[in-house]
Amino acid sequence: MQAQGPLQSLEQWDDFVGERYDPNKKTEEFRDYSKTTPGVVEFYRQNHAHQTRAFVLEKKRQYTGLKRAKMSIWEALDYLNTLVDESDPDTDLSQIDHNLQAAEAIRRDGHPEWFQLTGLLHDIGKVLCLYGEEQWAVVGDTFPVGCAYSNKIVFPEFFEANPDSKNPVYQTRLGVHEEGCGLDKVDLSWGHDEYFYHIAKPYLPEPALYMIRYHSFYAAHREGAYDYLMNDHDREMFEWVRKFNPYDLYSKSDSKPSVKELKPYYQGLIEKYFPSQVDF
Ligand code: FE
Ligand code: FE
Repeated sequence: MQAQGPLQSLEQWDDFVGERYDPNKKTEEFRDYSKTTPGVVEFYRQNHAHQTRAFVLEKKRQYTGLKRAKMSIWEALDYLNTLVDESDPDTDLSQIDHNLQAAEAIRRDGHPEWFQLTGLLHDIGKVLCLYGEEQWAVVGDTFPVGCAYSNKIVFPEFFEANPDSKNPVYQTRLGVHEEGCGLDKVDLSWGHDEYFYHIAKPYLPEPALYMIRYHSFYAAHREGAYDYLMNDHDREMFEWVRKFNPYDLYSKSDSKPSVKELKPYYQGLIEKYFPSQVDF
């Protein structure tokens, strides 16, 4: 099955984020998106136009009760792997390859098992594409809904087309939130991060859950926006989100991992943390 939307592959979005934060990029190129692929631009146009607060609340109602399926974590990875991207010229990596590359890079750096496992699992929520969700409702930089859009979000001009931008209640600095209320009380745009957070919540340690839930919240973890919605605990936990990010962005150039060789090791890690059947 193919993901519906303007991206040739879901990785096209990840690659764009990786280029945006390329550590070798010169400062004058930093916010120059003029060379961005048209598919990526169209993807953000749709994402920013359609991710309203009402949409987010509806998707949470639809999915976070986890009544859709029961499967093992490895079955979910295999299922995710049935997502076929239109041939992306830069990579012949499958979904499982990206997840394994991130996990292996984390393992090489000597990080604990729960951290390695988080690398392996962080993108499982992309199975939303297989449920028929459009790309703009699965991937993309996440941002809070119900309050003013930060200009630190990529392509902020596209929010003009979002109906929430005409709602004065949602367009103040705090909107529906209280100062320092903590991110758990803030609804972010819907996608793979939030979905898998709900699946993993009973099983993984808190730093892992922060990595999963906020790994696409670039405006906050890379640009420092929305600090006024965070509490001190969020700020402390965001150190972990930042620690995780390079493994997500920069492990793709590593060699193609052997799923067959690595499966027993990671299957062992999965068994330490998850039951054999998990609610999706
Ligand atoms: Fe992701
Ligand atoms: Fe990822």
